Amino acid sequence: MALYSKEDLLMMIKEAGLRITDHRLSVLSFLAKVKQPITVYELVDSLRKKDNIDQATVYRNLDTLHEAGLLRRLDFNHGHAHYELETGRPSHQLVCSNCETVEKIEGISIDDTIKKMLKKSKKFKHTTTHSMELYGLCRNCI
Ligand SMILES: [Zn+2]
Ligand SMILES: [Zn+2]
Repeated sequence: MALYSKEDLLMMIKEAGLRITDHRLSVLSFLAKVKQPITVYELVDSLRKKDNIDQATVYRNLDTLHEAGLLRRLDFNHGHAHYELETGRPSHQLVCSNCETVEKIEGISIDDTIKKMLKKSKKFKHTTTHSMELYGLCRNCI
């Protein structure tokens, strides 16, 4: 995953038409460092410890950044949200149906599948990006 400098993140906020605030920057810089989608609880926990931001503020900032298209919100049938930075690149995950294990797999292309889907589609001509979750049991849960 590409590394984002503080300047990159400031630019992202600006280009999304949002005002730059310390809290927004904290949320983005935290997500820029994690290697896979993290739960909203981990995010709240870490930001409270690290930057002393309370839960309501984290939730509010997540909503704002998500609406502005800077974050991707993923649901793994866990009953809670997971977030990652919206990189514009596809996101592929293996998700355990029994525990909280999620593994992001990089460098896989499903372009052929997308082409086939579009060929069958009556309503779509192209796609912009995608996220894909495959469910199963992780090695610890087999
Ligand atoms: Zn989860
Ligand atoms: Zn598992």
